[in-house]
Amino acid sequence: MAKVVLIKCDSYDYSSVKKAVGRGLELLGGCRVWVAEGEKILLKPNLLSAQPPEKCVTTHPAVFRAVAEALLEAGAVVTYGDSPALGNPERVARKAGIMAVAEELGLELADFRQGRDVDFPHGSQNKKFTIANGVLASDGLVSLPKLKTHGLMTITGAVKNQFGCIPGPLKGEFHLRLPQPEDFARMLVDLTRLLSPRLFVMDAVIAMEGNGPQNGRPKKLGFILMSTDAVALDATACRLIGLNPGQVLTVKYGQEFGLGSYHEGDLEIIGDSRQDLVVRDFDAAKTRTALAGRGSRYLRNAVVPRPTIAEKVCTRCGTCIQMCPVKPPAVDWTDPDKQATPAYQYDRCIRCYCCQEVCPEGAITLYTPFLGRLLHRTSLPS
Ligand code: SF4
Ligand code: SF4
Repeated sequence: MAKVVLIKCDSYDYSSVKKAVGRGLELLGGCRVWVAEGEKILLKPNLLSAQPPEKCVTTHPAVFRAVAEALLEAGAVVTYGDSPALGNPERVARKAGIMAVAEELGLELADFRQGRDVDFPHGSQNKKFTIANGVLASDGLVSLPKLKTHGLMTITGAVKNQFGCIPGPLKGEFHLRLPQPEDFARMLVDLTRLLSPRLFVMDAVIAMEGNGPQNGRPKKLGFILMSTDAVALDATACRLIGLNPGQVLTVKYGQEFGLGSYHEGDLEIIGDSRQDLVVRDFDAAKTRTALAGRGSRYLRNAVVPRPTIAEKVCTRCGTCIQMCPVKPPAVDWTDPDKQATPAYQYDRCIRCYCCQEVCPEGAITLYTPFLGRLLHRTSLPS
């Protein structure tokens, strides 16, 4: 039976986080259960983009520090890294406050710029991945996801966190090759099966709701989750924020393809009381969740949420155009001087939401058409 540790943690005050992480690790048997002296362990925080910790876009440095210190105490040689959606790994790690902690603890930033191909014949969706050199150079991975809403996958949590182990520009190609959310989720499950992190520690002290994973609102949840089972951990996070785990594709396929278990009877929550930590008003965009995989090419425009740009907020930076994996981009300039807001060609848009994910101004939101909202209300369980 999968064990998920749920630990209350009210703030990022370091002594609170250290205590919470220490208690959680104890409940799981201590670091030495998964780490032998001298092993090279890579810490993989969520470093989506260059944002300070208070924006809640990235794993908080206090959580990173607490886990890193525990691993060092257990005798591991700790490195760290991620491949951000936007910007280079060094800049993002510095801005997120992770690099300062790493420098203090003497942790090396691993190479996430280059990678090499690794076969995965057991993949249900993907039989080969290009994995960052820094990951391949380690003996094992400890994954540090941040709980946030996500346009395509509903939440970014333990299963999705390994996507950053693929070097930067290659990630966009997956969106193009796998435009259906179901296929994309199965690919993420394959990737986590391949990399098989030894432990997941989710930062949900202050999560992100609404227009995540970059431009949502910070939302205090006050807990840290830990498990060796990514699916059980994400399912527990879903239940705590009022989402049906069976509707989150990474969780659903995670169970189906043997990555872990999400049914209540197959997992045990230990630590603090779930009842005290349930959050009833988390804005997790359930409509998007349920409709994510719906709609043929013809129905897509009428049903599936579409990205829209708020003209007054847009600064015409062009990042959305740059990040669109469709060629030519499905969002583009409409005038040669680039003075007008970029416009969408929805017939070509594959609804990967990369543009919404990276817009530095939060100018892009997802709009669910009337028919989509109706379909959600009338035919789908909440
Ligand atoms: S990324 Fe955002 S701010 Fe920049 S052009 Fe696109 S919509 Fe405007
Ligand atoms: S316009 Fe946005 S949602 Fe559509 S394909 Fe391009 S990046 Fe993806």
